[in-house]
Amino acid sequence: MAPVHLSGLLVLLAHQLVTALPAPNPTINQHPTETSYLGYNPTNVLDTADTHSIQFSYAPGQTNSPNDGASLNFIGLDNPQPIRGSKGGYDPGPRTEQYDVLNPDALAPPTTDHGSVDNAQWPLGLSHVKLGLGRAGWSRQQNEDQIPAATEMAGVDMRLEPGGYRELHWHKAAEWSLVLNGTVRVQAVNEEGQTFVDDLEAGDVWFFPPGVPHSLQALDQGVEFLLVFDDGSFSEDNTFLASEIFAYNPISVLAKDLQVPESAFKNIPAGQLFIFPGTPAPSNISEQNVTGSAGIVPFDSSYSYHFSKAPNTYTTPGGTVKIVDPTVFPIASGFSAALVTIKPGAMREIHWHTTSDEWNYFLAGSARIGIYAAEANSQTFDYHAGSTGYIQKGMTHYIENIGDDDVVFLEVLQADHFSDISLGQWLALTPSQIVMDTVNLTAETVSQFKKEKQYIVMGGPEP
Ligand code: MN
Ligand code: MN
Repeated sequence: MAPVHLSGLLVLLAHQLVTALPAPNPTINQHPTETSYLGYNPTNVLDTADTHSIQFSYAPGQTNSPNDGASLNFIGLDNPQPIRGSKGGYDPGPRTEQYDVLNPDALAPPTTDHGSVDNAQWPLGLSHVKLGLGRAGWSRQQNEDQIPAATEMAGVDMRLEPGGYRELHWHKAAEWSLVLNGTVRVQAVNEEGQTFVDDLEAGDVWFFPPGVPHSLQALDQGVEFLLVFDDGSFSEDNTFLASEIFAYNPISVLAKDLQVPESAFKNIPAGQLFIFPGTPAPSNISEQNVTGSAGIVPFDSSYSYHFSKAPNTYTTPGGTVKIVDPTVFPIASGFSAALVTIKPGAMREIHWHTTSDEWNYFLAGSARIGIYAAEANSQTFDYHAGSTGYIQKGMTHYIENIGDDDVVFLEVLQADHFSDISLGQWLALTPSQIVMDTVNLTAETVSQFKKEKQYIVMGGPEP
């Protein structure tokens, strides 16, 4: 028997003494009978605590006239309140102020918000993390469970530590991915027996069609990437896994199928691996370039696009727009994306998409999206790094930088090329008399509308 230190033994005994004491009985007052608490009774005296004299300060712009709707910054503010101009009131009640600071347009919406719009916001920081094996990584997702309106797309944020694998697998949905940081080796085999292997870095994109089996392995700096699927009900818990094929088929069948002895399978995993630590990938990628008679996947249907090396598509004083869509990355049919940078105070202009919903991910900064959803419904939502968003087709939206740093966010459409309709361009290209008559503007105002899309606009001129 191992020697036991006396002090340790005393602590152990004291612990057992405490836990051995009987728990005190609860105080019971099951049938108070002195007076009835039901209804009016002159002996019931009101407790008149003051809930009106509240100490707080207004955010700049919070008392502006109705419909101004400037974004409110509650950071560092004393006790933010649900007030906009002449509307709202005090909140003395149960609350967690951090939510209000993160969601100023929920606490004190612009007074132009009207009716209701389907939820369009989900911070991945509220998603349950799936922990990988052996400290090899983790993942978390947003799908219809978090944003019920998000029927066309779902997203997964995944981290792999150096050498960590996302195991060999496939799924029924198409997978589009943006590398957020680090480096990763991706590989796949298609129906023709053509093979694919590539190394990608932050800002690069890959795509795997439905059913095509693939695997991912972090290189020596680790990797984090964002996955977007063309099915809002997609779940990372519903993928087809190599480990499960081996765990859930009879060994005699595996031996017959692969023409090796049953004894070869004595160490197969008992169930799925999903994310697990592995042998570091050889730094020379050509060592993992396996080919059969069909050769490699041809360049014009490559599963990767080195988006990090591509130039911005549009550069404006307020920021940049960088587009990757099937016109440059043909295999990713259906996935058209823009990586947008918006400088502080600038705004992605009011626009909409004609045929596709839009899925969003915020890589940096703080922004709000105002959505007009037709027939008297509009609502404003707030986003920060790691937030996802979803805007249904046809609905107008703007993305306004409401922080002190650049906003970087992703707009993903299900479309054969990236496109939008700009409010400003539409009105500038419509006969001016029609616009003047419809929204009661002067000819001088309408003449200032721009005939070209602005994509990102700076802070407007003060009145
Ligand atoms: Mn996958
Ligand atoms: Mn958009």
